[in-house]
Amino acid sequence: MTNVHVVGAGMAGLACAVHLAEAGHTVVLYDAAPQAGGRARSYHDEGLDRRIDNGSHLLFSANRAALSYLKTIGALDAIADPGEAAFPFVDLESGRRWTVRMNPGRMPWWLFNPHARVPGLRLRDLGGLRRLARAGRKAVVTDCVDRTAALYRNFWEPLTLAVLNTPPEQASARLLWRMLAESVMRGGRFCRPLIARDCLAAALVDPALAFIRARGGIICFGHRVRAIEVSAGNASRIDFVQGWEPLTPEDRLVVALPAPNARALLPDLEVPEGHHAIVNAHFAVEPARDGPAEPRLVGLLGGVGHWLFVRPNLISVTVSAADGLADRPAAMLLPELWAEAARALALPSRPVPPGRLIREKRATYAQTPANAARRPGPRTALGNVLLAGDWTDTGLPATIEGAIRSGERAAALCD
Ligand SMILES: Cc1cc2nc3c(=O)[nH]c(=O)nc-3n(C[C@H](O)[C@H](O)[C@H](O)COP(=O)(O)OP(=O)(O)OC[C@H]3O[C@@H](n4cnc5c(N)ncnc54)[C@H](O)[C@@H]3O)c2cc1C
Repeated sequence: MTNVHVVGAGMAGLACAVHLAEAGHTVVLYDAAPQAGGRARSYHDEGLDRRIDNGSHLLFSANRAALSYLKTIGALDAIADPGEAAFPFVDLESGRRWTVRMNPGRMPWWLFNPHARVPGLRLRDLGGLRRLARAGRKAVVTDCVDRTAALYRNFWEPLTLAVLNTPPEQASARLLWRMLAESVMRGGRFCRPLIARDCLAAALVDPALAFIRARGGIICFGHRVRAIEVSAGNASRIDFVQGWEPLTPEDRLVVALPAPNARALLPDLEVPEGHHAIVNAHFAVEPARDGPAEPRLVGLLGGVGHWLFVRPNLISVTVSAADGLADRPAAMLLPELWAEAARALALPSRPVPPGRLIREKRATYAQTPANAARRPGPRTALGNVLLAGDWTDTGLPATIEGAIRSGERAAALCD
């Protein structure tokens, strides 16, 4: 069995290590941080006295790799599945509320039902789907959909921001289509929104670490890779702050780091350039006596926030492509985002509950057509080095699903 060193314990590195450990390889997983999860991590917030996520994450029932990963690590129960593809929305400008409710099968009957479809949808707007399906490499979303239609504001714009974290006028049409082809185009059975019941760590991270350790894998936190030394076309050692680790040409090194960090170690690598931020505001609330026990999702339109993730004791607001909020102080943003959440959920707007604002400045790479063309495959110029990460060329948007598939692909190439 091969000795495999995986650097980066985000979703890509974890999925890679889980796959390798399952196949009986000797795995060592390193991360610079004191914990795993990367951009999908949780921590205990002293101020809120809650374990919170850096940012709320949504999976879909179409995410076959994520679901298979959860099954392997025994954590399917840690994900809440509402059992139907239903998406409640609140328009904060008009006060209008509706729920998009997709039928499970492939035939989209929901599009013909005014109570189940997106308001303002005209059947001729569906031409946007055809144009997205045929979009060329250089096309952006707004080349394919009508910006003047009500459907743009109520569907295409929020969907693009949620899936690609990039404004529709810059976002790759092909990447959006790929997500639609795997979910919406296959019917509501593939569009159920799945949310970590408690937090990301409890669902996606802690069970994976336990799985790897139980199969003899070693996990080293606080291990930042400073350099990769090369000899005769192979990586010959990994330099950590703590010291170095020798590699033979038969060993494998999987670099599962964010794009700029991977490029710093492998300077010949071409990688996507530029990122977009995601901002999350978490509010600690007292569970309502008759409130739902399961987390749920509410879409917001016409405000600053885009999505609410509502848990019994935590209400979180997500703002995608949030680069414009970089300089807004938390003391201003928290009351503003709480006011929107309170309106949408019919809660008192005052007092503002204890809140925490988390800004992820490099949440995902900017998912433009130019950057999509810069995504490298899993192989590198070095014989024993492979790549993984949501930014590598999976054909998918930069998501948990993409990261997991990239990790599994790298693991499969380690044999
Ligand atoms: C706020 C937010 C919300 C999001 N929402 C969603 C969502 O709803 N649905 C969804 O599917 N996706 C979402 N995403 C995207 C998703 O989180 C990422 O696609 C995924 O987590 C990326 O995983 P990764 O393993 O590729 O990279 P990362 O998670 O970035 O992992 C890389 C790891 O490498 C480590 N590292 C870096 N440099 C070094 C070094 N030199 N040496 C050792 N270790 C190093 C880092 O500490 C990190 O743990 C969101 C992201 C954010 C930030």
